[in-house]
Amino acid sequence: MSNTTDTRISKSDFLLYCEAPRHLWAKKNGRIELSLSDFDQHLIDQGYQVEGLGREYLDSIILPQNPGQKLLWQQTFCDGPFEARLDALIYKPETDTYDLYEIKSGTALDKENLCDVAYQASILKNQINIDHFYLLHLNKEYIRSGELDLARLFVSDDVTDKVNNLLPEIGLLRRDALSAVQTADPDSLAHCLTPNECPCPDICHPGLPEFSIYDIPRLGQKKKIELLKMGIREAKDIPVSFDLNQKQRLVADRARTKSVYIDRFSLQSEMERIEYPIYFLDYETCISAIPQYDGYHPQQQVVFQYSLHRMDKPGGEVSHTEHVSITSDDPSLSLLEQLSADIGKVGTVIVWNKTFEMTMNKEMAKIHPEYAHFLMDVNARIYDLGEIVNQGYYLHPGFKGSWSIKNVLPVMVPELSYEELAINKGDQASMAWWNIVFGNLDQSEKEQIVERLEKYCELDTLAMVNIFNIFESILHL
Ligand code: SF4
Repeated sequence: MSNTTDTRISKSDFLLYCEAPRHLWAKKNGRIELSLSDFDQHLIDQGYQVEGLGREYLDSIILPQNPGQKLLWQQTFCDGPFEARLDALIYKPETDTYDLYEIKSGTALDKENLCDVAYQASILKNQINIDHFYLLHLNKEYIRSGELDLARLFVSDDVTDKVNNLLPEIGLLRRDALSAVQTADPDSLAHCLTPNECPCPDICHPGLPEFSIYDIPRLGQKKKIELLKMGIREAKDIPVSFDLNQKQRLVADRARTKSVYIDRFSLQSEMERIEYPIYFLDYETCISAIPQYDGYHPQQQVVFQYSLHRMDKPGGEVSHTEHVSITSDDPSLSLLEQLSADIGKVGTVIVWNKTFEMTMNKEMAKIHPEYAHFLMDVNARIYDLGEIVNQGYYLHPGFKGSWSIKNVLPVMVPELSYEELAINKGDQASMAWWNIVFGNLDQSEKEQIVERLEKYCELDTLAMVNIFNIFESILHL
């Protein structure tokens, strides 16, 4: 063990261990990239905001119901190397016990939240008497109307039984987490088999090939292990006899043969579903833990921008319209005013990954019922162009098993690139808009950011236009 390794285990260390043992080891040994994006920082700031409101909730709603009880805020407790800073304890003098409140900015209770509270319980159990454990989280059913209503913004779940049932498991995990920070050899720790979103890939998969077995869509754990035992890490080396489903086989074959696959029959049937005039639509959104506007619930996406390309006939020119709403009130209202004028009553609305746009339309329809008919009509006319790749009707080895437009565009239309743009990711667009509306930018800074937002969103719909044209041209070969 390195002398410099910090062997204390905080609550976030423990949760990092539960996520993946090697992540904790990497953190303690300085092998994880800890830089936060603006969006990560935004989520953290929102967590602090919820925490502050949670404290107000306890002070103004829970305590007055029980005179004599006392709130202890953010106390730290230790048990050997394990430590935890608690959000809130309420001391109940009548029984000489405490209630513990863990404040969360999510709207639902999950296993990680329970492990979080159970870890705190394991530290407290020989030190103070806890009567109840509560998870105080945001209430998905709460719809803002005017001032924030704290009593309805939060839900308090009594998780005492669930936490007590978890304690034996937490005891074992604590022991294992301690061994993980004390070991010098990360290879002794389990790693997962989904290295595509790794914080520390070099520890688990040094020299990971560019197109690996992990890129084969939905390949199960067992099959990954089977391939690894055969010494296979590159997708191109997967034997033709290896048992894969049809889509997986098509993707693996792209790596092996380096050739494009086209299912002309399916491509043609899909393209025949599209009717002119065609609208290519893309939204940009930003999530807010605390609803900022009337009609919104906690953790709801706010739609603030769209880009729309229109094509009236096969091979015809495209026209473009767009809207970025930077007003201080609900941005979706001015957006819908313009969108409903820009999208005509007939024709297909093409998007990439329809779940997102359709969900946004349903949510906007609830907030602005006067546009519900329009939005439901748009949903009925939506066609998801990404499905042609996702279903395996057109596959290029350069997609490397992905159907994300960010991976498909540079392969199909290399002259169009996100790389050059000042804003080139959805979370950057979210933050740019948030800073315009809630930050302290001057007019010229705002204008510059709006311009960047427009370029980014326009590229998303222009990408769809180009990809659509390529599919069309394939059918005319
Ligand atoms: S493979 Fe990646 S995600 Fe999985 S444990 Fe290793 S570093 Fe973490």
